[in-house]
Amino acid sequence: MKHYKIALIKGDGIGPEIIDEAVKVLDAVSSKEKFEITYNDYLMGGIAIDVKGEPLPDETISGCLESDAVLFGAIGGEKWDKLPRDKRPESGLLRLRKSLGVFANLRPTTVFDELINASTLKPEIVKGVDLLVVRELIGGIYFGQPRANDGNKAYNTMVYEKDEVVRIARVAFEAAQKRSKKVCSVDKSNVLEVSQLWRDTVTEVAKEYPDVALSHMYIDNASMQLIRNPKQFDVILTGNLFGDILSDEASMVSGSIGLLPSASIGGKVGLFEPIHGSAPDIAKQGIANPIATILSAAMMLRFVLDETSAANRIEAAVKEVLRGGYRTKDISQFDAKEVCSTSEIGSIIADRVSKI
Ligand code: NAD
Repeated sequence: MKHYKIALIKGDGIGPEIIDEAVKVLDAVSSKEKFEITYNDYLMGGIAIDVKGEPLPDETISGCLESDAVLFGAIGGEKWDKLPRDKRPESGLLRLRKSLGVFANLRPTTVFDELINASTLKPEIVKGVDLLVVRELIGGIYFGQPRANDGNKAYNTMVYEKDEVVRIARVAFEAAQKRSKKVCSVDKSNVLEVSQLWRDTVTEVAKEYPDVALSHMYIDNASMQLIRNPKQFDVILTGNLFGDILSDEASMVSGSIGLLPSASIGGKVGLFEPIHGSAPDIAKQGIANPIATILSAAMMLRFVLDETSAANRIEAAVKEVLRGGYRTKDISQFDAKEVCSTSEIGSIIADRVSKI
């Protein structure tokens, strides 16, 4: 029997509640598909500051590096907001991504027919949207040197090495091969030299994937097109800054923040997490939606553990449960037949997983 070691980082706010439900569903799918999972808990974020005095203790990094994958809830909260930037919970997450070397962030946006009215866009615009944003995660302007702010003058540096563009482009083309075979690369090459290198390099890499159609778009136009006609996109490939903004915009096309998963891969160990934050406003009330985390667990099974059938099973169970009208409070206004707590919906999904 195959055996996987998963690092769990529950974090702050609703993090522990949503991770518990993902584990419930993973346990159900692993017993059905005949593999075993061992979980180890590690601290990061506000809770790590409280317990260990720092947002990312060394044992968290080493524990994650010894695991097959990391499943992460969310971090942050008002309590730690006043700390200096490098001591805050978020700095722990940035350092963890860097330590794991996860350079590719994958964020799918799928619109569930049952929740079509959750979007602020018209149903005919969003029905059938199925796109994937592939964002470069550990380079570009968020990490470029020099950077400074002396109170009178401030600057950051957007820098990409050709190799960094090649490896993220390959992730996008390979993902497109398993989808609708279209990549749209987003840049600002009419203004930025770094984008000119980006565009030339992506065009060169595209030659290795003749079955995938490549197009290019400027970031300003892409931001408009995503709202005007999101169905035109299959895979959107972009850098760290543009990807940060575009992936949030893309997620809002679906309108339901509690449903969208993400994967950060390409390094030593993959990191899987919901796109939302720690939602302190609803923590410990049993009303958080765990589906984004459950779908992140499905991405983990698909992208690093190669358990495709188990991933399909979870995704199908989530669709069935939504079709059946089961809703957590955040999406209860959309055709709910039964409003469920965090733990109830986790149990219903786990139960469906075993029966599919
Ligand atoms: P948020 O995503 O936590 O919450 C935004 C809104 O969406 C809130 O009203 C919240 O109740 C709701 N929401 C989010 N997830 C939900 C879920 N699963 N079910 C139901 N409702 C949900 O964003 P925020 O309020 O801007 O940030 C709160 C904290 O989270 C901050 O400290 C922020 O720094 C942190 N944060 C962490 C991450 C991360 O850990 N990756 C990402 C974003 C924000």
